[in-house]
Amino acid sequence: MKITSLETHDIRFPTSRERDGSDAMNPDPDYSAAYVVLRTEDGHEGHGFAFTIGRGNDVQTAAIRALEPYVVGRDCSDIGALSRGMVGDSQLRWLGPEKGVMHMAISAVVNALWDLKAKREGKPVWLLLSEMSPEEIVGLVDFRYITDALTPDEALEILRKAQPGRQERIAHLRANGYPAYATSPGWLGYDDDKLRRLCKEALDDGFTQIKLKVGADLDDDIRRMRVAREVCGVGFPIAVDANQRWDVDTAVQWVEALAEFDPWWVEEPTSPDDVLGHAAIARRIAPIPVATGEHVQNRMVFKQLLQAGAVSYLQLDAARVGGVNENLAILLLAAKFGVPVCPHAGGVGLCELVQHLAMFDYVAVSGSTEGRVIEYVDHLHEHFVDPVVIQGGRYVAPAAPGFGSTMHPESIAEFSYPDGPVWRGANG
Ligand SMILES: [Mg+2]
Repeated sequence: MKITSLETHDIRFPTSRERDGSDAMNPDPDYSAAYVVLRTEDGHEGHGFAFTIGRGNDVQTAAIRALEPYVVGRDCSDIGALSRGMVGDSQLRWLGPEKGVMHMAISAVVNALWDLKAKREGKPVWLLLSEMSPEEIVGLVDFRYITDALTPDEALEILRKAQPGRQERIAHLRANGYPAYATSPGWLGYDDDKLRRLCKEALDDGFTQIKLKVGADLDDDIRRMRVAREVCGVGFPIAVDANQRWDVDTAVQWVEALAEFDPWWVEEPTSPDDVLGHAAIARRIAPIPVATGEHVQNRMVFKQLLQAGAVSYLQLDAARVGGVNENLAILLLAAKFGVPVCPHAGGVGLCELVQHLAMFDYVAVSGSTEGRVIEYVDHLHEHFVDPVVIQGGRYVAPAAPGFGSTMHPESIAEFSYPDGPVWRGANG
């Protein structure tokens, strides 16, 4: 069970060439993964990664390497203890604490440990978690700094309440999957014809919600919302996502100007650190709901967003906070406050990861898919050994052991930065 090596790769996809992933704050992302492979003495591997959008992926990769002493030569069976060890390192903690590059590095390693554990047990991560007892799950959570909102006893109560019906919900997931929504139609860099065509395709593919990027130019947003509303019809959920573009007052004015198109939610209206700003926006644009979370850096900020009534949809990210363990805390916090979790996905491999957390939430925490959808973006799945499968606008429950985080060795070689074949020409 001992981990014998930690290997990293700086992997970058030149997505900016097609403006895939473009939004009001990120006009030219090169979707990237700071990728880690853990190997054990008995021949198993765990794969994990932090998602970045290009420059800085080398910094992120170096941060993962800094965690080597916490895993190599260590027994990997107690992930809770390994996770607490990394989070608690007093020197590394100075770089955060519990935020940013170092915390994302911990996420990559923790998620790789979960991939390893699930592969060893022959189960997908969602099922592995869903079959744990409430006591085991609570034992994985670090309650430090959140007990004013959620105590271990309250977490136990939430999990015990969801225990009856777990098997039925597992069967339901296997038969029906989990609802998804489509972001691919709405990238800001796409022209109206492409927007129209992709909206139509999303409807034809069975998606029950789409999302449009907004926030760069109000006239453009009004025009694009009109196009999307025309194609999708009255009442069809169309969320908008500003990717942190606005100050509080701008957010309110902009959303008021888009209100006639009935946005389903307004995502990341302002800085992800601005809890009170989100709360003010939520109050002033009500009943239009506010969603956020993909850039929220830890469970404490999520706690405050919930306490302040600032979010109606909580969009956790699989690889930004401290991995599975911290996301368990966030799922339990959301359940305590009765706020649905609609995870952030897209990027590189985020869909592959986050489906496991949403499915676990349905089976063992919230017990519901009502008002809940997982983001889906149709990019880069072909690089993964067990890519997500979408059928009729729903994520099919993964059956393969692990976290879905393993990339094909050929993809790692081809897109390695700066020496992979894809980049050699570009930099020459
Ligand atoms: Mg977003």
